[in-house]
Amino acid sequence: MRTPIPFPISFEFFPPKTPAGAEKLVQVRHALYAVQPAFFSVTYGAGGSTQEGTLQQVQAILAEGHDAAPHFSCIGATRDSVRVQLAQFQASGIGRMVALRGDLPSGHGTFGEFRYASELVAFIRAETGDHFHIEVGCYPEVHPQAKSPQADLQAFVTKVRAGASSAITQYFFNSDAYFRFLEDVQHHGVDIPVVPGIMPIISSTQLMRFSDACGAEIPRWIRLRLQSFGDDTESIKAFGLDVVADLCEQLRQGGAPGLHIYTMNQSAPALALLERLA
Ligand code: FAD
Repeated sequence: MRTPIPFPISFEFFPPKTPAGAEKLVQVRHALYAVQPAFFSVTYGAGGSTQEGTLQQVQAILAEGHDAAPHFSCIGATRDSVRVQLAQFQASGIGRMVALRGDLPSGHGTFGEFRYASELVAFIRAETGDHFHIEVGCYPEVHPQAKSPQADLQAFVTKVRAGASSAITQYFFNSDAYFRFLEDVQHHGVDIPVVPGIMPIISSTQLMRFSDACGAEIPRWIRLRLQSFGDDTESIKAFGLDVVADLCEQLRQGGAPGLHIYTMNQSAPALALLERLA
């Protein structure tokens, strides 16, 4: 049995796409229960996942005695469809969610009745009061579609004022971006916890692909070092662990209220990281 980590940790999964993936995720979450995380979250929509897949995973985690939050995006949704979903969450004993706008698949399609996540948050509060602890996303390195850093910051402040309880950041490798973002939001009177999202480095091609898609910057020195390892996955993982553990240490020392780990449905990288930080 591992010792619990002395600061709040949460873990993110995506709904498995195959029976083998589902089987593996059972082992993964059991391994992660040992560090007594504050909660797990399960993504929705990315890679074509359905809300049923998300809900199934959340229900399984809740049934095993741990807190879990579905991600819920409003892209293409109507007020009625959101109402139905909220009722289903409440009936399933869910008390926490990650409320997002989401993205149009390949940039096509229609937004539906909600234009921004702030409108979804306001709607959830209007419909369900204080029932849900609402997490929202934020972007210390600026959301890729934002008109400007100032507009993105203002959009985040609006989302918080609409009723967000806490926030999780997009991942980043430069702690200055996070600390500057915190200063800026505090300057606007925002005092909810803003928890850094942490991406363990497991594979360089996967990391480059994700980062290009979500606008997270990989500093040049990290990119070049990763490229220099070629297919040597052990060296990539060892270097990645050093880089991400140093980042987490800086974040903790600087007062980050916890860490949210994007597990990529694997337990070993997250546990190796937490062992370094224990
Ligand atoms: P919003 O807060 O609505 O912001 C979207 C854009 O609109 C930003 O550029 C913002 O600056 C701008 N904006 C917001 N309000 C206004 C306004 N009033 N006027 C003008 N501009 C405005 N995606 C998934 O598909 N599934 C997931 O499970 C998922 N999980 C995520 C978890 C986390 C922690 C994070 C950080 C992101 C996640 N995403 C997920 C990605 C997210 O859906 C995308 O980044 C999406 O493009 C933005 O979602 P949002 O909720 O941050 O949107």
